[in-house]
Amino acid sequence: MLDLLVQAGAILEGHFLLSSGKHSSRYIQCAKIFERPNYGEKIGKAIAEKIAHHEPHVVIGPALGGVILAYEVARHLNARAMFTEREDGQMKLRRNFHIERGERIAIVEDVTTTGKSVLEVAEVVQKHGGIVCCIASIVDRSIEKLSFDVPFYFLVKLELPIFEPDDCPLCRQNVPLIKPGSRK
Ligand code: ZN
Repeated sequence: MLDLLVQAGAILEGHFLLSSGKHSSRYIQCAKIFERPNYGEKIGKAIAEKIAHHEPHVVIGPALGGVILAYEVARHLNARAMFTEREDGQMKLRRNFHIERGERIAIVEDVTTTGKSVLEVAEVVQKHGGIVCCIASIVDRSIEKLSFDVPFYFLVKLELPIFEPDDCPLCRQNVPLIKPGSRK
């Protein structure tokens, strides 16, 4: 699976500014997986195989990163696919997506770092009467072990080399700093 991510160009080497404000020599751009639907399908199938025994009715992910992923995972489980999105900073289930009371919901995410957005999705699911049965991500890049109340699955464990901005070897070598997402 790591090879697939490299092949897809989802793992970038360089000098990156992370959303935390820290610097890294590596960045994960999962959108690149879904640039090629055959990669996206393989990733979706691999996650579906790990979580199939939970028999989810719905696979849900946070927008944007979880939209296609949820769809690809749901395809292999014959489940429904949905996504949550932020409205005024608040995670919500919109677009007339509907969860029946007591349905089993699998939450998927492209990259799990702190688990914060997954927990926000879980809150939305519970508010709509669903039961979170499992959580799965393509890449777990958490530094501390994530502790969820339900089983957590991932395809690849990847730690990023993280540097403080004032003590970064790449800054010292004058390697241009890239803010991911803004790169053409
Ligand atoms: Zn740096």
